[in-house]
Amino acid sequence: MATATNLGFPRMGANRDLKKAVEAYWGGKITADSLLETAKELRRSHWSLQAAAGIAQGHIPSNDFSFYDQVLDHSVLFSAIPERYAGVPVKSELDLYFAMGRGLQKKEEGIDVPAMEMKKWFDTNYHYIVPEFKADQTFALGANPKPVAQFLEAKALGIETRPVILGPISYLHLGKPARGVAAFDHLSLLPALLPAYEALFAELAKAGAQWVQLDEPVLCLDLPAHYKSEFAAAYGRLAAAAPALKILLASYFGTIGDNLNSVISLPIAGLHLDLVRAEGDLDTVLARKSEFSFNLSLGVINGRNIWKADLEKAIAKVDRAVAALGVDRVLVAPSCSLLHSPHGLAAETKMDKQILDWLAFAVEKLDEISVVSRAVKNGAHSVKEQLESNKKSLEARRVSSLIHDPVVQARHKAITPEMIKRQSPFPARYAAQQARLSLPAFPTTTVGSFPQTKEVRVARQNLKKGAYTQEQYDEFIKQEIQKCIKFQEDVGLDVLVHGEFERNDMVEYFGENLKGYAFSANGWVQSYGSRCVKPPIIYGDVSRPVAMTVEWTKYAQTLTTKPMKGMLTGPVTMLCWSFVRDDQPRRITTEQLALAIRDEVQDLEAAGIPVIQIDEPAIREGLPLRRSDWTAYLRWAADAFLLSSTGVRDDTQIHTHMCYSDFQDIFTAIKDLDADVITIESSRSDLKLLSAFNGDSYPNAIGPGLYDIHSPRVPSTEEMHHRVKEMLKYMDSKLLWINPDCGLKTRGWTETDAALRNLVEVAIRMRN
Ligand code: GLN
Ligand code: ZN
Repeated sequence: MATATNLGFPRMGANRDLKKAVEAYWGGKITADSLLETAKELRRSHWSLQAAAGIAQGHIPSNDFSFYDQVLDHSVLFSAIPERYAGVPVKSELDLYFAMGRGLQKKEEGIDVPAMEMKKWFDTNYHYIVPEFKADQTFALGANPKPVAQFLEAKALGIETRPVILGPISYLHLGKPARGVAAFDHLSLLPALLPAYEALFAELAKAGAQWVQLDEPVLCLDLPAHYKSEFAAAYGRLAAAAPALKILLASYFGTIGDNLNSVISLPIAGLHLDLVRAEGDLDTVLARKSEFSFNLSLGVINGRNIWKADLEKAIAKVDRAVAALGVDRVLVAPSCSLLHSPHGLAAETKMDKQILDWLAFAVEKLDEISVVSRAVKNGAHSVKEQLESNKKSLEARRVSSLIHDPVVQARHKAITPEMIKRQSPFPARYAAQQARLSLPAFPTTTVGSFPQTKEVRVARQNLKKGAYTQEQYDEFIKQEIQKCIKFQEDVGLDVLVHGEFERNDMVEYFGENLKGYAFSANGWVQSYGSRCVKPPIIYGDVSRPVAMTVEWTKYAQTLTTKPMKGMLTGPVTMLCWSFVRDDQPRRITTEQLALAIRDEVQDLEAAGIPVIQIDEPAIREGLPLRRSDWTAYLRWAADAFLLSSTGVRDDTQIHTHMCYSDFQDIFTAIKDLDADVITIESSRSDLKLLSAFNGDSYPNAIGPGLYDIHSPRVPSTEEMHHRVKEMLKYMDSKLLWINPDCGLKTRGWTETDAALRNLVEVAIRMRN
């Protein structure tokens, strides 16, 4: 009946209640019982909220709740717990679970277990805990399985839910070999895994579940050919295990593409498709309607962006499916779980009313799903008011002068190939920069930020609260910069930075200074564990009304004769870490960002700043899920960086920075950036990776991070010296820089002092 359904709801609560409770429990401030109580209340509230919004009984998700991460939950559910956690002396299963998620360190008791590895969940900013498998891995359904318990919990409240469970193929695919285990095909574990699913299915059916949602997001990836038969084997068995239980197989985050062949003849009751990311999938699937008899769940409301949907368009999509399959075989759904949306708009009292009218967070998306479903079921007239109001908002947004800036658009159209090229090739620039900067061999620098102490954060809060005037705050920042410059001179670094004390966050700071950006008060999205991020919202054409960093950088340069490095965030990173417009291609938004940053770069140069770093830590995470889309993305990403960075003279030195060591996938793009110096993370990786950067394949200068700033540990001079000597096996000594592997923002001054002195000592030894 064009049923209104949902795939998952954000867990944190309207005020990040779960985060607060979990952290209070970790800090010993509340009991486990109290944490469990909060969690139960959140689930109750989210279920009733969905029911009230009109999500159909039987299609309200359960088991989407998690104290840390749903993939970790899944490993625990099936007892796939790595051996090293076996002997950890914890009081409860809950504590063991948290130890796996975040590690456990109790020095007095001699306990020190690291966390399991965390990885990005597809191309979202959510991170999951990577399952670990041995070749003889066993799986077993534990007592009182969570999906069953939470199904019954909802049932007791009078709410029929659809348990959400990670599917067997995705679960195995997303794992990694346990420590010391050689790589192997994880799908070989299917025969060991399936009995655990079968046992779970039997219990769910016994508990009265009608539907179960099996998430198989790997269907949006390029999969090995043999996965087709693995899908057939796995789903054949699961369907037989509990014939009464209807399986909804959910694919999301992209086109199902060729993988449709792996699922089209499965004995499932429903297939969910992401029709926001892959609109064309609807026609592809409908064209093959004679090959299947399952229901289609249509992901027509974007589960991972914050814009109101075009309801008419969504309804048209659903109508097309209804015309082909009949109204009883169609479900209306968000494109993916709403986990990736902020909770709701109720708290946004401070945002510009016009912009607010264009937005829909998770709570509002439920209404959209419900309206679409009712329109299809009962006709558009039944939701006339809602459709009219939706149309009005969309139209207002479409023509708003807040969004459309003819000056920016004209400037964007006028981008020429000359604007993405430096004046001269690297060797000539290198000579010009050496002449200007007279840097010693093995020049030393840092990646930008210095410790953001409590005092710095308090000063910023004081400014926000009005307890500080702008003058008082600026004075405070000036003093921090003074101390930082003095410190760097004292330590003996060569290229100095101002320390980034005025910045709360490397994207937010620039967003606040650019036109086209809005900020929510409460638009938090879970990133990992209890951590949430509040991405800024790019709503319109981006431009830079005034210089953003020039005053601080100039001020810092007046305090020293050493070269000062201006610090900027690159266009691709600005894009990747924001909610972006859906009314123009991401590429265009990125180019607008690039033009704004280009202005800043040129202003810094004009102010006499000789070195400018443009950070692009997010280039790699913007990689599309399908390989066939990589080349195009990497080309425009590199071009956007070039657009931001190349409007300078040869003797201005451009740096960039990336925070990962696995550059294999994007190496050509890194080369294409043509930065004079790139600093990268390398301290946690195999130095052989650096061979990619040898003189033949990578001509420009590079600073492979000498130590890991994520840990308070102070590396010795010997250790770093040894590293540099190893690095020189792979790269040209003339082009090697000496620096830490990322910004020092999260570190304390004591360890920063010690580590940087050791680092400078390494450079001195090398020069001698
Ligand atoms: N310049 C930034 C800093 O030092 C870079 C941060 C990052 O790479 N994530 O904080
Ligand atoms: Zn970094």
